Formats: sequence, C-alpha cells, structure tokens
Amino acid sequence: MTGDGTRAVRAGLPEPRANEPALPGPAFAAHYHLPGEVSGPYTYGREANPTWAALETAIAELEAPGDPGPAAEAVAFPSGMAAISAVFLSQLRPGDTAVLPSDGYQLLPALRERLEAFGIAVRTAPTAGDAQLAALEGARLLWIESPSNPGLDVCDIRRLAEAAHRRGALVAVDNTLATPLGQRPLDLGADFSVASGTKALTGHGDLLLGYVAARDPRLTAAVRTWRKVAGAIPGPMEAWLAHRSLATLQLRVDRQAAGALALAEALRDRPDVTGLRHPGLPSDPAHDLARQQMRGGRFGCVVSFVLPDRAHAERFLAALRLVDEATSFGGVRSTAERRGRWGGDAVPEGFIRFSVGVEDTEDLVADVLAALDEAARPDGNAARAEENAARADDGSARPDEGPAHP
Ligand SMILES: *Cc1c(COP(=O)(O)O)cnc(C)c1O
Repeated sequence: MTGDGTRAVRAGLPEPRANEPALPGPAFAAHYHLPGEVSGPYTYGREANPTWAALETAIAELEAPGDPGPAAEAVAFPSGMAAISAVFLSQLRPGDTAVLPSDGYQLLPALRERLEAFGIAVRTAPTAGDAQLAALEGARLLWIESPSNPGLDVCDIRRLAEAAHRRGALVAVDNTLATPLGQRPLDLGADFSVASGTKALTGHGDLLLGYVAARDPRLTAAVRTWRKVAGAIPGPMEAWLAHRSLATLQLRVDRQAAGALALAEALRDRPDVTGLRHPGLPSDPAHDLARQQMRGGRFGCVVSFVLPDRAHAERFLAALRLVDEATSFGGVRSTAERRGRWGGDAVPEGFIRFSVGVEDTEDLVADVLAALDEAARPDGNAARAEENAARADDGSARPDEGPAHP
C-alpha cells in the first residue's frame, strides 16, 4: 500500500488516457442524454454527477484505503451540516435515542431541537473522559466529535464504538478537524466518518462542502437516498475545486500541524495565556490518547487558549498582522477569532480559537508574540491597530467581521 501523500495526489483520478486531462473538469448538467429505457448511473442532476463521483472515490480512498480501490464509499454534500443532518435524518426514527457530545460543533444544539421535535430523544455528555459511555443504554446512534471543536478534547473512539455496538447503536465520528490523513474513524470501529470539507480538507477558505463515508453499502445507500430526497447536492464547481485541493492535503496538514505545535509551544510559558490546548502538545491532557488514535503526528491546525478578558482578546486580534480575524479553520492563511462572540459555545470571554495556516512558522510565531505583547499594554496597542486599519483602507484588506450566525 502506498503512502498518504502518494495516495492523496492520485485519489479518485481516472486511469490515464491519451489526450485526456488528469482530473476531468466539472460536469455541469441538470440532466443527461437518456434515450429509451432508464439506464446507467447518470440520469438526472439531483441523483448523480461524474464530478461528485470522482470526489467521492477520492475521499473514500483517503478514509478507507483498500487494495485495490477504496474499502468504503463516500457521499458528498454541499456543506458539513448537510452531511451531518443526512446521517441523523436517514438513520433515526421517532422513538429512537441519539447520544451527542455536549461540547461539539456549535450547531449541534440547534440540530438537537429539530430531532426532539421529530420525537427523537437526545442525550449529551462531554467528549473528555469518554463520558458518552454512561449515556449509551438504549441508544440507536452515538455521535462523536474528536478532537472536539473548539475545546480540542479527545475521546477513545475505539472504546466508545465497541461499547455502542454492544448495545446495538451505530457510531458516527465528525472527522472535520483531523481530516482523513490525521484520523481514520472507520478503522477505529465507527460506522460513519462524517466531515465538513469546508475546513482543512479543502484548505483554501473558498468553498463549502461535506461528506459521509461508510463501509456498509446499506448505510451509504440510505444516506444517498436521503440526499436525493432532501435535494442537498454539492455544486459541480465546488466538488471539482475540492478534488483539486486534495492533491495538496498531505503538504497542508503536515505543515499546519507542525506550525500549530510550534505556536502552542511558544504560548506555553506566557503568563497572559491560560487554558492552552493543542492535542499535539506533549503536556496536553488529550495528548496520549490523540497519539494512539491519530495518525502521522497530524494533530490538526487548531490551537485554543484563553486571554484574561474580552477586551484583552480583542486587542490581541486587532494587533495581529499576518492572521485574519475570521471564523472557520483549516485554511492556508492563518485565522483567529474570539469564539465567545457567537454566543453558541460554552467558552470564556477571552477564549481564542486559532487556526494555523501554511505561513513560515517563525513569521507566524513572531507575529503572535508581538500581538500578545501589544495586547498586554492597553494603550500601546492603539498605534498598531491604527496601522492595521490604514492597511485595510489601502486595499490590503483585513476582512470585516460579518454578521453573527443565527
Ligand atoms: C464547520 C464544522 C461543521 C459544519 O460544517 P459546514 O461545512 O460549515 O456546514 C461541522 N463540524 C465541525 C467539527 C466543524 O468544524
């Protein structure tokens, strides 16, 4: 079996054919020629598209490399939330019970409300300490997020999956933060690996995408049928851009993981930084478990930490020069935000979620340390903030903060 980088550059590509491109361009089609009886994979655009099919093969090869071909199937969605919803809504019926993390992605509580309105019972427990184990009795679906966003806790996927399977529950893992190069949930016993492809998987911050991968064809068939019924289909252009981005996945995740570890190490001894978390940091409470179940030293690009208060955090973000203040994570350009501004996560006011890009590590660490120094001096920060504002005016823009999520 080939290595991750070798697999990533060829994943999902057709056999080389004379005079054909390596990765065929996006197929824009609402319908396909269909003379006579209904036959073949491509009939109507809501059901199948060759650009999705190539991307789905690529993702399946990364989530579950087989020899030959992938040992799983993937189904692509227009966003991570579309993929997550597809698993819940295709698998659960009224009267079923789902177990969610209490510290997972910020839209899980909104999803929980919808599930409960449909007569599905929902229990939650924290990711850390495998606390979801205690909530499994009678459950139909266990939803795991490891490492969790934004708190970066890790749980033992294999242990939870075995316990859930003994009770007859299905297991799904949100693999967004790790990417399939950093963690293979299906190999750890999960039935579904689900992710937002918006983040590190595609890495350029220019598209939204999601996917569901599973080994059992009955599970992927149910998810595929759900996609057709809900009509939650990815655009061919986004699917093609995503596939194109997979070729650099290994380069990006390795670089970002190394940068994140270097940043975490640089922050470790700062008196103004508390609550520092990064699963790659040897002193992190999640490190030993992360090292067991994650792959290749790829502990993700996110570092989280807490500054003394909201104003301090805002001064820090304004003083950064090489880091965009923006949400999301996993992009080639570093971003950071004060997570509490959304109101959806149980985090302190000064909590920063920092996503390390592919900049030169020394430049990035120097910028962060300088911004921390500025932020520690409430008055000394004004000059740098003004300079940043001037740069935004002359076109080398820092993006404005958008309106809050619903
Ligand atoms: C961003 C994110 C999602 C949602 O993905 P979208 O592509 O924004 O819909 C789900 N889970 C995690 C862990 C995420 O970070």
